[in-house]
Amino acid sequence: MTTPRQQRAIAAYLGLAVGDALGATVEFMTPNEIRAEYGVHDRICGGGWLRLKPGQVTDDTTMSLALGQAILDAGGVDAQAIARAFDAWMRAKPVDIGNTVRRGILHFRRTGQTAVPPNEHDGGNGACMRVLPVALHLPDDDEAALRTACIAQAHVTHNSEVSDAGTICVARMLQLAIGGASIGNLLQGPVKTLIDAQPAFAFRDRRREENPSGYIVHTLRAVLQALYETDGFESCLVDVVNRGGDADTTGAIAGMLAGALYGLDAIPEHWLSKLDPSIRHACEAQAMALLPTARGCRVG
Ligand code: MN
Ligand code: MN
Repeated sequence: MTTPRQQRAIAAYLGLAVGDALGATVEFMTPNEIRAEYGVHDRICGGGWLRLKPGQVTDDTTMSLALGQAILDAGGVDAQAIARAFDAWMRAKPVDIGNTVRRGILHFRRTGQTAVPPNEHDGGNGACMRVLPVALHLPDDDEAALRTACIAQAHVTHNSEVSDAGTICVARMLQLAIGGASIGNLLQGPVKTLIDAQPAFAFRDRRREENPSGYIVHTLRAVLQALYETDGFESCLVDVVNRGGDADTTGAIAGMLAGALYGLDAIPEHWLSKLDPSIRHACEAQAMALLPTARGCRVG
């Protein structure tokens, strides 16, 4: 027996994996290249520049699982435990890894420090793409604690204001959506806060964000446009991955948000059934284990 909150948490985690697996096929392609090869890309079929098996996921999902396991093992968001988990994750030779992530993990190996120095060029989407376990684990009535935890996990590899702002916004959107908030509530709350602080994230009244890069501003403008121009899980993910660019990561972030908003029943069975079964199980298990409800502290 699962509560609605637990179901939305599971949907967010499965949405992350489904979006990653769907988008990876067309990562680094342009919208025109995608159109020429697939028409509309809407099937989980593997391939892409990583030559994936159908249903295989990439670093977006596996780093999230490494972070989630570190939180569960340490009993909380602990930068040492997280840095060690990322180090072990890299040693296991992930299928892909971002440059900033690699540099951050090497910095930890060399210095033992769990935060890289501030660097305005660390504005990639790598800290944001893996934030879901933090959003699940932290209580949703303490925004200061959420901020602190987001920054602790982010700074292991990415220490930039723009990455922090995007990461915290997505984490808060996830918490509210899992708590039952509407898409409009998210716009009035964390999305407005983000754009007020960092106007570059404004996504309305501007051209369609195509070919989004790994820069967090481009990534989140594409994700937010897709989220606010569609009205369901499937249409949102198809919209965002067909923009090409960093499509596995826009797919992953849009997938977790749309999963949390639209719930488990909205995730198409033809996508879920393609997902690597061990990944599917790990996502479901972590979603349940990370939620405060699973520890009996909170009834939701
Ligand atoms: Mn990836
Ligand atoms: Mn990517």
